[in-house]
Amino acid sequence: MGQEALLAEGVGACYDSTRNSELLSAKAQRCGAQVSPEARRDMADSSYPRYLETYRTGELRRKVEEAIASLADCTVCPRNCHINRLEGKTAVCHTARNAQVGSFGPHFGEEDCLRGWNGSGTIFFSQCNLRCVFCQNWEISWGGEGKEKTPEQLAWIMLYIQDQGCHNINFVTPEHVVPQVLEAILLAVEGGLRVPLVYNTSAYDSAESLRHMDGVIDIYMPDFKFWDADVSRSLAKAKDYPDAARRAILEMHRQVGDLVIGEDGIARHGLLVRHLVMPNGLGGTREIMRYLYREVSPYTYVNVMDQYRPVAKAGKYPEINRRPISSEIEEAMRIAREEGITRFDERLRSPLRPVLG
Ligand code: SF4
Repeated sequence: MGQEALLAEGVGACYDSTRNSELLSAKAQRCGAQVSPEARRDMADSSYPRYLETYRTGELRRKVEEAIASLADCTVCPRNCHINRLEGKTAVCHTARNAQVGSFGPHFGEEDCLRGWNGSGTIFFSQCNLRCVFCQNWEISWGGEGKEKTPEQLAWIMLYIQDQGCHNINFVTPEHVVPQVLEAILLAVEGGLRVPLVYNTSAYDSAESLRHMDGVIDIYMPDFKFWDADVSRSLAKAKDYPDAARRAILEMHRQVGDLVIGEDGIARHGLLVRHLVMPNGLGGTREIMRYLYREVSPYTYVNVMDQYRPVAKAGKYPEINRRPISSEIEEAMRIAREEGITRFDERLRSPLRPVLG
């Protein structure tokens, strides 16, 4: 596929270059006062993006070879399907040898510290290893909208995004294509990739995949969707999701530490956890915030998200067939603060939120 055809598939988002970077900078200084002493020392560390050193030592190439080989008996995610994707076989994630991309380009819907003023360079992968009945991206994740990309095409997309001035490359829903992403990163680094990498995940990640990404990813951005295994079995078709997410987030923090935001307001490296507030408290906000504060880090940076909409198959599940009301969002924020969380994404809440209750 030629470059023009690839471009036509991008999201083609407009740049919002008028974004006030001074506001971001002021916010960064507030957040900077809240990071751990270790993270503050890291701010002066010039070894980021991390993949440059991993590439220089030859370790990145070794990781790629090992990860691609693992597709022959796939345990890339906790589903452990044990199929041979190199021979074109597919299972839960409907993805064989090559990754499929739904869209790509500068994106301004992400957290301030990622989108900055030039946007976060998102690459939305098609398909998913979870089966959330309320999937907010269901056209891509369930419907499979998107096209297969060779490693070279994926690398070209990364370099194109970098050339657009995006502050980072943001891999969205990469859990089932970690080997393919690594393979493309190697090519992109050889082609001049230099911006930080964001791993934007449901947290349904295997230990093996996260080991492959160690020394490669700068910013981990996992969801923590549910605390309760029965809720997860019903709504995401994965009873082991809470266990997997707990393990994954601990490992992510071990690799990159607390989120570090530069003086310009742009995230450099670290962990940023998203928690989507579900109707009727189904996410388990208190347990999740307690875990993040006590087991991960008291400096964990959290985005409590209010944008849940009842889409995809949510209409068949009465308990989630509505948006959360204002009091539920406020309660989730109050709970997070009560459990000790102090570092939040501070964007304005949606003005369209229903105020019933
Ligand atoms: S990545 Fe896909 S094929 Fe591999 S274990 Fe997960 S769901 Fe199964």
